[in-house]
Amino acid sequence: MSKPSFISAECPECGAFFDRLPVDYDEDGTAYAALEVAPCTHAGCGRFLCVDCLRYNCYACDRVVCASHSVEVMESGKPEHYCIECAIEAGEYPAPKPPQPELVYAAGVQMEVA
Ligand SMILES: [Zn+2]
Ligand SMILES: [Zn+2]
Ligand SMILES: [Zn+2]
Repeated sequence: MSKPSFISAECPECGAFFDRLPVDYDEDGTAYAALEVAPCTHAGCGRFLCVDCLRYNCYACDRVVCASHSVEVMESGKPEHYCIECAIEAGEYPAPKPPQPELVYAAGVQMEVA
């Protein structure tokens, strides 16, 4: 039986349908579609974005970010997409609050020193 060399698949993220994707086989001979995806580089996002997904390359650092992790910044009169980190650096996005130091109250505890 000859193995098919093309397969169709749907992007799990945006649902775009891809016909005739090249097929890759893993060592067990399981076929899977070689769908080209790029992960969102925002820490903790974990979305894999296909060419049809709404994704942006950061104008400043060129990293791929998904729509919810990109920030529109006006750059010489036209909107460009920044990743959140670069937008914070450019002062275009509110920086996350630094973690508050834990307040330790030594509330009137008096130790008797023997
Ligand atoms: Zn997609
Ligand atoms: Zn960036
Ligand atoms: Zn993301």
